[in-house]
Order: sequence, then C-alpha cells, then structure tokens
Amino acid sequence: MPRKDPITMPDASPRSTTAQAGAPPVELDVLVVGAGFSGMYLITRLRAMGLSFRVIEAGDDVGGTWYWNRYPGARVDVHSVTYSYSWDKELEQEWQWKERFAPQPELLEYINHVADRHDLRRDISFLTRVEAAHWDEASERWSITTDTGERYAARYCVMAVGCLSVPKLPDFTGLDSFQGDWYHTGLWPHEGVDFTGKRVAVIGTGSTSIQATPQIVKVAEHVTVFQRTPNYSIPAWNRPQDRDEEAAVKAQYPERRQKARVSLAGDVFEPGTTAIADTPLDDVHAELERRWQLGGFTFLVAFTDVLMSRESNEIIAEFVRNKIRGIVKDPATAELLCPRNFFGTKRMCVDTGYYEIYNRDNITLYDAKTNPITGITATGVQTTQDEVEVDAIVFAIGYDAMTGPLFNIDIRGRDGVSLKEKWSAGPRTYLGLGSHGFPNLFTITGPQSPSVLSNMLVSIEQHVDFVSDTIAYLEQNGLHTIEPELDAEDAWVDHCRELGDSTLHPHDDTWYMGANIPGKPRVFMPYIGGVGTYREKCDEVAAAGYEGYALK
Ligand code: NAP
Repeated sequence: MPRKDPITMPDASPRSTTAQAGAPPVELDVLVVGAGFSGMYLITRLRAMGLSFRVIEAGDDVGGTWYWNRYPGARVDVHSVTYSYSWDKELEQEWQWKERFAPQPELLEYINHVADRHDLRRDISFLTRVEAAHWDEASERWSITTDTGERYAARYCVMAVGCLSVPKLPDFTGLDSFQGDWYHTGLWPHEGVDFTGKRVAVIGTGSTSIQATPQIVKVAEHVTVFQRTPNYSIPAWNRPQDRDEEAAVKAQYPERRQKARVSLAGDVFEPGTTAIADTPLDDVHAELERRWQLGGFTFLVAFTDVLMSRESNEIIAEFVRNKIRGIVKDPATAELLCPRNFFGTKRMCVDTGYYEIYNRDNITLYDAKTNPITGITATGVQTTQDEVEVDAIVFAIGYDAMTGPLFNIDIRGRDGVSLKEKWSAGPRTYLGLGSHGFPNLFTITGPQSPSVLSNMLVSIEQHVDFVSDTIAYLEQNGLHTIEPELDAEDAWVDHCRELGDSTLHPHDDTWYMGANIPGKPRVFMPYIGGVGTYREKCDEVAAAGYEGYALK
C-alpha cells in the first residue's frame, strides 16, 4: 500500500493506559515521551527508583528510529557490538549479532527482545502522541495532553523523542497528481515495498539514499537518482559477525564500554593524534588507505585537523574523490558523484556497495543541481530540463533534525513561553539537557549535546543516567524543581558556538546547521567537544551539587 499521507497515524487501539480520555489528569512523578532506545532504558531506571511514570509513544511498538526507518538497506553504521545497551550485563553476553553492522530488522529484533526480557511494554501507552506539555507554576507540574485526549500531571517530563524523528515531508508541487506510489524513507510501510520491475525515482543522496538505492536497484527495472549535492561515503565492509571476534569483544566488554564512554565519538576506534598539515603526504595517504580498508567512521577521525583546516580537508576530500573515480567506470558519472564541499561537514556516509551501483545498466544519476526538480507530474519527476517518467518515488530527503521533534510538541514553560519561541534564533540549553524557563524538563540527546556526532547508544545511556540520577538527587534532598540558570545556559550556548565556529561546519549547508529546512535558524546544533569531555563536564556539574542549576 502506498503511503499517500505519511503523517496520518493509525487509529489508537484499546490499551491499558493509566489515563482515560476525558478523565481528570493522572498524577505521575515522571512522564517520558518516546519509546526508542532512550525511553526503554529510562523505564528500567525509573522502575528501580520506585517512581510512578508513563511512557507515551506514537508508534504501535517500541524502537523509535528503528521502528520507523524500515526502508530497504537500513542498517546501523556503528559496529553492532558497540551500538547496543551496556546496562544489561547478561544480555550483552547472551545476544549474538548476526552482522557486523546490524540491519534494521535485526536491530528491531534486539529491541523487541529487550522489551520482552524486561517486560517494558506495560509501562508504555502506544499509538498515542503527546501534543502539548505546559508547565504549571502553582502546582509545579507538567500538564501533558495527548491526541487521544489523555491528560497527565507530571512532576518531571523527559523528552526522549530522538533527533531525526520528524521527516522532512515532500512539498513538491503536483505531488497530489502523481499516479504512482510514493514513500518517505522515514515512514516506510511496515509491510515493505516491492519495486520489482518498476521504474523508481530516488530523490536525495544522503546516508539514507546511499543505503536504500543499492537495494532498490537490485530489483527495479530502472532507478533514477536525483542528486542535488553528492556526499562522501566510506565503505562499511559489512560482513557476518565473526564469532571469535565477538568472543574477544565479550571478554572485554567492561573495558570497551568504558573506553567508548570517555572517547571522542562514543566508539572504541583510535582517533589519529597528528595533523595532516604536519604529516608527509605519502604517510597521510598510507594512513587514509589503512583506515579506508578498516571502513566506517574511523576514517573521519584519521587526523586531527580534518575539520579545522581547509587545506587538510581538501587532501582527505581528494583521496575519497579518487576512490570514487577508481570505482565508477563512466568518468562523467564519477565526476558528478565527487563532492566539492568539505569532507565531514555533512555527515559522512557509510555504505555497502554504493558507488559500485553506478556501473549497472539500470541506473541513472540525474544532476538535480544543474536541472533542479520543479515538481511532480502525474507520471514522474519534472525538472527544469526533463520529465523523468517513473512508477514510484522514494523521498530520501531527510529530517527536521534535533529541534524538529521538540517543536512538534507544544512545550510551554514558565509564563506560557513556548520552547519554539525561546529557541527562535537557535537552541538555548544548559548541557543540551534542559533550558532556563522550563523547570523539570529534560531532553535526551538534545541539541548542544554530542548526540548526533556520537555513537547514539553511548550518549543515550549517559543522558538517561544523568537525568535519572538528577531526579534521584532531588527526591533524596526533598527538592521539588531543577532549572538551568540563565548565566550557565548563556555560557553553554556560547561555548557550543565557539567550538562549532572553530571547525569548518558553519561553512557548509547541512542539517547540523539547520540549513535543510527553509526558515530554520542557521546554527550548528550539536556539541562538538567530544563525548568524553562532555561526560566529564556533566559529572563535574552533578558532583558540585548541580552547579549552574537552580534547585528548590
Ligand atoms: P539528509 O542527509 O538530510 O539527505 C537528504 C538528501 O535529500 C540530500 O541529498 C538533499 O540534498 C536531498 N534533498 C532534500 N530536498 C531536496 C529537493 N527538494 N530536491 C532534491 N534533493 C533534495 O537525510 P538522510 O539521508 O535521511 O540522512 C539524515 C541523517 O540520518 C544522516 O545524516 C544520519 O545522521 C542519519 N542516518 C543514519 C543512518 C545510520 O546510522 N545507519 C542511516 C541513514 C540516516 P542537499 O544536500 O542538496 O540538500
């Protein structure tokens, strides 16, 4: 079934929630929005603390990103053994990953296993979307309402809503007239899509398209990829998980996990310690080749100045372009695939046979920069130059990242000020965990935390632990509210901006900068100081009695 209206949610089914439509608000200690990896771990922490809580989830089951993103080829691009929970020590020993980079179905199998193993679903209201969360100063409660008419009054509210969970929906003129089927990769039909024998347009060439297109082209009659901006992609060298390698990892899990927690990006690979500028060119190429053969994100951190120096960046960029020229046989196509922007300022992609597909006969790379898409017709994609007739369109056009999922909810803090209003010129947080004027509200992996620049599982666990420990501290000390102080927030915002400004990031149009969404403020949203440094800062804040927060 085609998804003609991808944001329409299925009707809610009867469920054993504690709140009923029309009934008075249910009093809770904590309300959590989202049942992905963050919300699921929160359940275990909040249960252990003996608090009353509820998790509200829009989908009909757990999984978040991995519940929604079911497009062909979807897989994690961090090693599965590292992209997994560390808090269940038996699970990490028992679970056997089938692939080095788990595909979406295997990740969902893992997530479902965790939900079953810890009986998590009983604390989740599915098929329910939180519409509003308003702070009520008098009662010191968050007043939360859902699209199913439920109301909650919660002392704390935790937004575990993900960073890439609001798809950028296609707004091409004429889409309504399209006679074929169209899909957004982030809202993929659960029953799957059979492209066998079809002419398919794929619009977009980010990480998602780079994963999906190699799968679609295997069965489609023809695929036309509409590329506006090419991306740098490094091979994953995915393969079945080697059992000896897995045993070695399991024998050292505590050390590995700890290493990831204090690392730059939440992974165990070694970042380079020298600058390209200080290294003979032959040695630079040898190291890049070594890391290319290792695959994945280790390539991005090969040298210290990749994201700092234009000249050094050009050396790594040209190395990748030469790889593309070596793989893609048609020189014109190869050149079109060669990115000209900085390497690594757009999120680096990790692929399985992406560039190789352009050697097939049933694929066309369409230059949508020179000839932009002007609309969709009844029969295909219209550009300034051509109409490309297709039977199906796959929109791999990305997300309203980081702030989108929070702004999707009408969050209002003290004096009715909305988060959207407060962040109209860009996110303003303390530690990426909360914002002044919004007491007892926490964001998991929110803007101005390492989140999207890291192995998400490591950052999620750190945030869930910080939030749970903070709530425990308040409870133990008879305190009611916690709120970032304005000075501390301003200093954190400045610090995040200074770090971002010291890199090449602000010079590229990326979703990190909000540049993919018209009207979004141009601000580098993540914290780029590193996972380990960030954790240290959070730990120091907590150890100092929550320095920078007002506690009452
Ligand atoms: P994206 O990186 O934002 O890419 C969107 C693509 O759509 C870009 O190529 C963009 O071109 C193109 N596009 C948007 N509007 C267009 C238009 N009107 N006409 C033509 N092209 C248009 O989105 P994504 O690929 O979904 O990836 C988003 C993020 O999700 C990734 O960066 C990554 O963090 C995450 N992700 C992770 C994994 C993983 O870990 N396994 C997999 C997939 C995605 P322009 O660049 O020219 O705007």
